Amino acid sequence: MTEPAPGKVAAGFPSGAASELAALKLGATIGILGGGQLGRMLSLAASRLGFKTHIYCPDKDSPAFEVTLHRTIAAYDDRAALEKFAALVDVVTYEFENVPAGTAEILASLKPLRPGANALAISQDRLAEKTFIGNLGIPVAPHRPIHAPGDLAAALADLGGAGILKTTRLGYDGKGQRRVTSLTEAEQAFADLRPHPLVLEALVPFEREISIVIARGLGGDFAPFDAAENVHRDGILATSTVPAAISDATAELARGYAINLTIALDYVGVLGVEFFALADGSVIVNEIAPRVHNSGHWTEAVCITDQFEQHIRAVAGWPLGDPTRLADVVMENLIGDRIGAIPSELEPGIRPHAYGKAESRPGRKMGHITYVAPKTPRK
Ligand code: AMP
Repeated sequence: MTEPAPGKVAAGFPSGAASELAALKLGATIGILGGGQLGRMLSLAASRLGFKTHIYCPDKDSPAFEVTLHRTIAAYDDRAALEKFAALVDVVTYEFENVPAGTAEILASLKPLRPGANALAISQDRLAEKTFIGNLGIPVAPHRPIHAPGDLAAALADLGGAGILKTTRLGYDGKGQRRVTSLTEAEQAFADLRPHPLVLEALVPFEREISIVIARGLGGDFAPFDAAENVHRDGILATSTVPAAISDATAELARGYAINLTIALDYVGVLGVEFFALADGSVIVNEIAPRVHNSGHWTEAVCITDQFEQHIRAVAGWPLGDPTRLADVVMENLIGDRIGAIPSELEPGIRPHAYGKAESRPGRKMGHITYVAPKTPRK
């Protein structure tokens, strides 16, 4: 497979390499692991392109089941159900990074799994992720592995006396992490956080948080979306604003890192890369997510090709689409009762998206709205 020259952005036409690889035909079936809102939005995009989707999820009330006829309700370690599912689909993808390794292995032996199992393994473990990213020469937060309470004192001293203690696995939306400013607090957090081991990260004095959502096709073509500026509340993404208030040089730096990550992972699909942007214009990777990303939902409202279509194109072996952004946007997550904004606050220029979840709970992502405004010319 030939790699693109760094910085060359796919314009949405088949590269020679891509067209030689098997592209799924109209009417083929894409298997999706996970039945949440991301699986639902992937399924909708796939339908629009003429594919069928089959959703695999243990939860019978999955929002993604509302948008496709084909479903498997079974545990992720149910080998017989996985084999049956694999026999019914042409390719397998997923909407969440905590797909168990055994599940990925079984499916990958039966059908193409895109993105591949290596992207899952790396993104499931914060230490493996930081090591992988750091080895590419891409900055990550200073950190120390914490296997036992006895590791805490030296790690805290190394990192300036404060930090964020995080579980290496299964953390999401701010869960599985605690800010600590003393050894006593760190010891308490160690006792509270599960599962072990943990990682202590230095507190990064970031100016803002940004993300790059990027697609890479089967033939190695790639297409990053514009950087989004993200605000988190209680560890959960609250808003994404595009354009981000960063310099062109910072945007270019982040985009270059994102491109290098997809190449190093030999990635196929959409990858979310979260960064801390520092006052000096540099960026640090916080984490990567091998899937469509909440901070890319705005693309649905204002890009020629959105992240969901882009992911489906990639895993189907189709040429990527054009990621060009046509308008300025703010995407606001509707969390818990905030879903009440639909329809009461809708005005022209606001695009609603409700996930069809029956029950709203505090902290639960129920939908999002996107405020669309004419694009401001860059100075
Ligand atoms: P994470 O689950 O690692 O994405 O962390 C959730 C949020 O916590 C991030 O989006 C940041 O707002 C904050 N955070 C995480 N790690 C750090 C860090 N090392 N320094 C400062 N803030 C952090």
